[in-house]
Amino acid sequence: MSNTTQTIQIAIDGPAGAGKSSVAKVLSKRLGCIYLDTGAMYRAVTWAAMEQNIDFDDAEAMQRLLDTLELEFRDEDGVQHLYCNGTDVTEAIRTPEISANVSAVSMIPAVRESMTAQQRRIAEGHDVLMDGRDIGTTVLPDAQYKFFLTASLKERARRRGLELEQKGQVVDYAQLERDIALRDEKDSKREVSPLKMAEDAELIDTSDLSFDEVVDLLYHKIIK
Ligand code: C5P
Repeated sequence: MSNTTQTIQIAIDGPAGAGKSSVAKVLSKRLGCIYLDTGAMYRAVTWAAMEQNIDFDDAEAMQRLLDTLELEFRDEDGVQHLYCNGTDVTEAIRTPEISANVSAVSMIPAVRESMTAQQRRIAEGHDVLMDGRDIGTTVLPDAQYKFFLTASLKERARRRGLELEQKGQVVDYAQLERDIALRDEKDSKREVSPLKMAEDAELIDTSDLSFDEVVDLLYHKIIK
């Protein structure tokens, strides 16, 4: 797929909890481009499969699910909501259960094929910022700007833990570190479009940077 329409495409990839989505939300508003949280889409497929008690290994049932799945992002009072077959799943896809199962779903080739096609369709003809695991390598290989955001495992668990605590959840930080490490391992080792830095991406280690510093840094790399 080549970006022949001269739109701006920005890819932000990286491991779990690196702050990609939070940074991407603010940065896309500042740049005035569409923001697509591709992780939310994989989470929604996982949510739908679990709701319908589908065995992830049942390829036919997963294909039927994909064939009838309608994902829609809607802006409601400046906040992006994700609807899955008409149900608002914005909160439901952020539970530990979904986080624990999403890697198993996102490694299924049919799931990746379907999500990648939808992501490219949404991007077509628009200035877009996407965050995920395979944006720079697979979804938007011709993106003009590619960043690979990372941070130490401890720092990523700390940030994710704070987010969960703000939502009223009790957090076991040692367990959270193990969960994040396991998800990264599964995402990195899968056969199709693994979590991997694109050769032409810029590595940004955010361990010692504040949220505002990361947003500013990326903004000024794009708007010189
Ligand atoms: O970004 P987030 O942590 O919400 O992503 C959830 C999961 O979705 C990841 O752990 C990964 O398994 C999957 N994912 C993916 N490819 C993407 C984005 C997310 O496989 N582009």
